[in-house]
Amino acid sequence: MMRITVFLFMILICVFIKAQDSFSAYFTDKQLRIDFALSGNDRYQAAALLQLREEPIWGGPHKNLIDPFDFGGYALKVYSKKNGTLLYARGFNTLFEEWRATAQAQKETQAWINSVVTPFPKDTVEIILLARNKATNLFDTLLIMDIDPLSIFIDRGKLNDCEMESIQSKGKPQEKVDLVFLAEGYTAAEKDKFINDAKRFTDSLFVVPPFNKRKDDFNVSAVFIRSEERGTDFSGKGIFKNTALNTGFYTFGTERYLTTGDMKSIRDAVWNIPCDAIFILVNSDVYGGGGMYNFYAVGTADNRQTIHVFVHEFGHSFAGLADEYFYDDDLSDFYNLNVEPWEANITTLVDFDKKWKNILPATTPIPTPARPPYSGHPGVFEGGGYLSRGIYRPSDHCMMRDFAPFCPVCSKVILNMIDFLTDRQVVGNDTFAQ
Ligand SMILES: [Zn+2]
Repeated sequence: MMRITVFLFMILICVFIKAQDSFSAYFTDKQLRIDFALSGNDRYQAAALLQLREEPIWGGPHKNLIDPFDFGGYALKVYSKKNGTLLYARGFNTLFEEWRATAQAQKETQAWINSVVTPFPKDTVEIILLARNKATNLFDTLLIMDIDPLSIFIDRGKLNDCEMESIQSKGKPQEKVDLVFLAEGYTAAEKDKFINDAKRFTDSLFVVPPFNKRKDDFNVSAVFIRSEERGTDFSGKGIFKNTALNTGFYTFGTERYLTTGDMKSIRDAVWNIPCDAIFILVNSDVYGGGGMYNFYAVGTADNRQTIHVFVHEFGHSFAGLADEYFYDDDLSDFYNLNVEPWEANITTLVDFDKKWKNILPATTPIPTPARPPYSGHPGVFEGGGYLSRGIYRPSDHCMMRDFAPFCPVCSKVILNMIDFLTDRQVVGNDTFAQ
């Protein structure tokens, strides 16, 4: 037994050393930022390069370079040109993919700015951008290009230095989740208000399970960017403010949906600091927000429900969690009911074995009636992902439905993501804690 333990320990050590080696063999400590346009309509989409930038700090993991989650509507993959090895892979969502599901996309063709980052390669790499095909739920290739790290076409220039204040610093960026609050709609005179708001949000996050158990896994900073005017846009009311990150309500015509399409300004604001997760704090007291996986989350500072909205939207952007709420009369076709959605906390029952089946007692009926004795326990409750029929959620109530505590499935996904970003070993997403 002892010999087996020692043997396993040696294997783990070797895996650890190999992972460290592969980072320094292929990457520097800098970051390659890839800005690209997604254009198209409801029928087709295309990707095109906007700019490449060398930025001074890679704050992400050094060992966990291949995302094991398969989350997101898009993915970036980076291969060694020399030997074809997959060096880096991460999934992400965009606002553009949501726009493609709107009525406007049936009549118009648009282009949206996006931005992804990877550790800066030492040698030429092949970059592949992939988009998930809604019919099959598999990834199709959108764009393939070689990037020579010595190319004169990579912008290596400085941008404006961040006015950054550390809220908590717990260790090396590659071993911590680097959460950055960005100021939006705060005037030059309101810097102190922004810092206090960011501190209040940080305190609020770390009392919510499962984040409360992992406070020391996060470095948190607040980046102040001055806006000329206070607040944000309400295009549906004819209100437009001159703000740093160009946020606005009425995204896709929905009054409470607060977002920004200005990914370039967001990335410019964090160009020289470690950044794993972005929350845009909007200086407003109106209810609303938004969040897309590995993209950003946004919410307002001063609404009565502000803290709940923050944690809910962070659930989307940080852990790729789906909305578990639904509308009785909604005919949304956001999800294809013929395939299993990639989000870990909803299922169409097409391939439920991949989801949270293993935490359910054999006696739990599938689907599960939302009434005692089942309603207070994990189950497979009909209604989720905006639809009252055909999509199922793991718990009757959850932060992703109605601001209740995160259900066991969502909690486990969040913990897995923290483990991934802090360079720990990630246990499969299909293994959920009770
Ligand atoms: Zn949940």
